[in-house]
Amino acid sequence: MSEMSVSAANTFHRGVHPDEFKAMSSGIRSRELPLPEEVFIPLQQHIGAPCEALVQKGDTVKTGQKIADSQAFVSSPVHASITGVVRAVAAFPHPLGGRVPMIHIVREGEADEWELLERPESWEAASVETLKHIVREAGIVGLGGAAFPTHVKMSPPEDKHVDHFILNGCECEPFLTCDHRSMLEETDNILTGMSIIMKMLKIDKGIIGIENNKQDAVDVMQSRVDALQLGFKVQPLKVKYPQGAEKMLIAAALGRKVPTGGLPMDVGVVVNNIATAQAVYNAVVNGKPLIQRMLTVAGDAVAEPGNLTVRVGTSFKTCIDACGGLKSETAEVFMGGPMMGLSQYDLNVPTLKATSGIVCLESSQLKKVKQYPCIQCGRCVGACPMNLVPTRLARFAETAQYDACNEWGVFNCVECGSCAFVCPSGIPLVQWIRVGKVKVTEKQNKVKAEA
Ligand code: SF4
Ligand code: SF4
Repeated sequence: MSEMSVSAANTFHRGVHPDEFKAMSSGIRSRELPLPEEVFIPLQQHIGAPCEALVQKGDTVKTGQKIADSQAFVSSPVHASITGVVRAVAAFPHPLGGRVPMIHIVREGEADEWELLERPESWEAASVETLKHIVREAGIVGLGGAAFPTHVKMSPPEDKHVDHFILNGCECEPFLTCDHRSMLEETDNILTGMSIIMKMLKIDKGIIGIENNKQDAVDVMQSRVDALQLGFKVQPLKVKYPQGAEKMLIAAALGRKVPTGGLPMDVGVVVNNIATAQAVYNAVVNGKPLIQRMLTVAGDAVAEPGNLTVRVGTSFKTCIDACGGLKSETAEVFMGGPMMGLSQYDLNVPTLKATSGIVCLESSQLKKVKQYPCIQCGRCVGACPMNLVPTRLARFAETAQYDACNEWGVFNCVECGSCAFVCPSGIPLVQWIRVGKVKVTEKQNKVKAEA
């Protein structure tokens, strides 16, 4: 196992320091959004095999009822997030672009009748297999953005010796504060979720990594860990972006370096986000599938920034309106934060399980999009936490040199956006790197098909 210098712990190598903009929502208690009139629930909200609909137009569904599933191991079912009638199973606009298959449910009256999961009397007495089954049936995926099915992460191959679990409380993206608020408002539930995860992984070493711009969360977590005698280590981390990326967090908290092309479990670690631990608690203890989550609505174009608990499939517009609406018609709206988020053109798109924020910025606040030629300043290289040469990767992609893209490690890019953030020439480095990944994959698939 590769160990980095222990003195380098508490943060990782390179990275950037964007303005945080968290104060606009971090001090305000979260609130629950009233039930939406309708939801649009995509059949696929995870990495892995897509689900097939289990309902059809005209069916009545209860909150929490499974409405789509797959036989594949690497997949995750989806559930109705309101009680109502299925209006359509069809393609609708999606926040990742294009139109994708979704289940459109319209609410019937004021009822919010739940269909709960089967759950044990006590999670402590339940078997590991029972817990994994509940997590799978609850449709839990990584809620930090990756949306990898959690039951798969809880089942490392036998040749991987996992010895540490890290709960990711970094929340390093500017504007986002929902994990921060959850740590303050749902402390014990999150800690129980973490204990359940560690039982599934059969390990006893747990670390809670929190950037030290959330000292109140560090304090409350430490105080509850002590009071409940859980033995977890609460690890404050220096503020730096992208510390919430798994590989960076592992370097910062444990000084271990995930090898090129490797996974956290290659260095004995599993990482989950705060919201994922909370979802595990809700499923195992309360029998509730993943049908709602807390997300941040913030940015200088939002009248009343804050954190909302919303049902999955609620439109962006409904969430923004609940925060006083947009102050400017020219505002740019992102799903997620401004570093890794995706710009939105249609506010009727639905929130997903992994939507941690809706950030709305006045156009005057956005980085100028005018682009200049590369001046070979090397700032992108100095910012890249993955030790890549972003300027070269982008250039190779732009000039269709896809073999060179691959050789220079395009797939190691975590798409954090640090390189583009520091580039004085405004070059869309990450977009070109994404193009490079797609083209290299296409080429590799073609070679395989012809072999
Ligand atoms: S090349 Fe990828 S990993 Fe490196 S800074 Fe740019 S986006 Fe981040
Ligand atoms: S930061 Fe921009 S201008 Fe500087 S080397 Fe990288 S791509 Fe070129």
